[in-house]
Amino acid sequence: MQQTTSSHWAPITKPRDVREQSNLTDYARACRAFDWGAARAELSGLPGGGLNIAYEAVDRHVAAGRGEVTALRWIDRHDQVTDISYADLAERTNRFANLLRTLGVGRGERVFTLLGRVPELYVAVLGTLKAGCVLAPLFSAFGPEPIRQRMRLGGAAVLVTTPALYWKKIAPIKDDLPGLRHVLLVNPDPLPGEATLAEQLAGSSPDFTVEPTSPQDMALLHFTSGTTGQPKAAVHVHEAVVAHHSTAKHALDLRAGDVFWCTADPGWVTGMSYGIIAPLTIGATVVSDEGEFDTRRWYRVLSEQKVTVWYTAPTALRMLMRHSADIAGEYDLSALRYVASVGEPLNPEAVIWGRDVLGLPVHDNWWQTETGAIMISNFRAEEVRPGSMGRPLPGVTAAVLRRGPDGRAQITHGKVREVAEPGEVGELALRPGWPSMFRGYLDEPARYAACFADGWYLTGDLARRDADGYYWFVGRADDVIKSAGHLVGPFEVESALMAHPAVAEAGVIGKPDPVAGELVKAFVSLRPGFEPTEQLRGELLAFGRRALGAVAPKEIAFDDALPHTRSGKVMRRLLKARELGTPEGDLSTLESA
Ligand code: AMP
Repeated sequence: MQQTTSSHWAPITKPRDVREQSNLTDYARACRAFDWGAARAELSGLPGGGLNIAYEAVDRHVAAGRGEVTALRWIDRHDQVTDISYADLAERTNRFANLLRTLGVGRGERVFTLLGRVPELYVAVLGTLKAGCVLAPLFSAFGPEPIRQRMRLGGAAVLVTTPALYWKKIAPIKDDLPGLRHVLLVNPDPLPGEATLAEQLAGSSPDFTVEPTSPQDMALLHFTSGTTGQPKAAVHVHEAVVAHHSTAKHALDLRAGDVFWCTADPGWVTGMSYGIIAPLTIGATVVSDEGEFDTRRWYRVLSEQKVTVWYTAPTALRMLMRHSADIAGEYDLSALRYVASVGEPLNPEAVIWGRDVLGLPVHDNWWQTETGAIMISNFRAEEVRPGSMGRPLPGVTAAVLRRGPDGRAQITHGKVREVAEPGEVGELALRPGWPSMFRGYLDEPARYAACFADGWYLTGDLARRDADGYYWFVGRADDVIKSAGHLVGPFEVESALMAHPAVAEAGVIGKPDPVAGELVKAFVSLRPGFEPTEQLRGELLAFGRRALGAVAPKEIAFDDALPHTRSGKVMRRLLKARELGTPEGDLSTLESA
């Protein structure tokens, strides 16, 4: 299938001074010269040998005499601003690591966070890594069911959360988590008979020698979803910090002294890799806003904090774009030097809106939980093609591939073929070798192995590449849903709905939405004796929300003739085609290609 390789929007070129002042001034030369060993040498490593993410993010700066620089600028819900220096963060994270030791939590054990943006989140994440434990962040808007699944899968030994989240989401599932030994609560209202985290930290020593982790030691677990089965836990190691640091420099143009704001939720991979780790390794000041999205609040944060580099997402940009540009005009955004976006397709209009309203085009970039760091990006010094995700980072090799000769072969057994023609659609693939590549899905070697073919990692995304090497996102090769930037596994939603006594079967799809990209929509067939009433619809929506939280279906349709494959699976693609009013074949780009 031949498709066009560019949107009808004219490319945006960069003035000479911008090009000269960028971290990466010449893309082609940087790609030729790049070497991951040299990128690793920009970090210090542990004084006694080994590599630890938290040391590179915090202690390295203190050791180099930069302890007084502000590491974290926290804005609470009521607009109070608290600055935490690198030296202070080093001490607080030492206390947290000591607390884990005191509690008998050993190296390699799993510490989960279920928190919004509060200082304790940063302390828990980095303290956990210092102690050589494995950090697993959870999205705090999840309902109890996705939390239960993930904590069981990841083998949670410790959970750090708030009392409110604990009572709402953990208490109902606590009995199902026998391995959970400690719950650390960050607010002044602890469980009966327990101390607050603040008290526990105050009683812990501020001195700690970072556990001598090796580059290949497990550091982070990030949960993600596929088309089938329960969520997967992608394993990342301490060496990932090399890619966090390098890509922040190249794709985000980040430098020491920058005021950096990443709006991603800390429960997902972007909030971890770029909301915490990458900017700290660079020595920037991380802005962290506890408040929810609000148009004026966001412009105020950009303006009052003099944010220089802003990393956000298409849904957020589209929410800003719904308001008049005059609102932006009321704020002084002159400190902004660079704006980037990730997580879902960025429509060309948003790129142009950035240029016209913020004074800077939005630079789209692409990556996923498994890759651990940005893989494809537009760059500050380079031409932006609105609608394109950009080009591979220095040190990253990408391709567009087709699976086996019939286009349908199992990728584990089949051969892949590189698409040579510009504009042809295929599956986006990457040649493994960058440091933040995931090392496996926890306890699921077969699922991991199924991601590779002929030495390529297949991303599950469909894309095309133009003659100049720019990549253009086409869609997903599977049925996962992206709603407001959050990856939702349809199987997980279907399973939760089928726990309701009225539901015989469910098929879940992403329904296009102008702001969120996609909305989760469920089609359900009912068991005998249940009628498809408005009351039942309301009950099912509420049932889904209670179990799943923010990833619950927003719409439910009754359908007593759900389409099935010959093997009896619900055909989500057909449901989606019906929803869109398109012939099913049009959605199956790979197979028709
Ligand atoms: P996650 O693993 O939750 O970070 O989701 C990764 C997926 O989000 C990718 O495989 C893509 O499907 C989608 N995605 C991420 N960035 C972009 C982008 N710039 N354009 C289009 N889709 C994106």
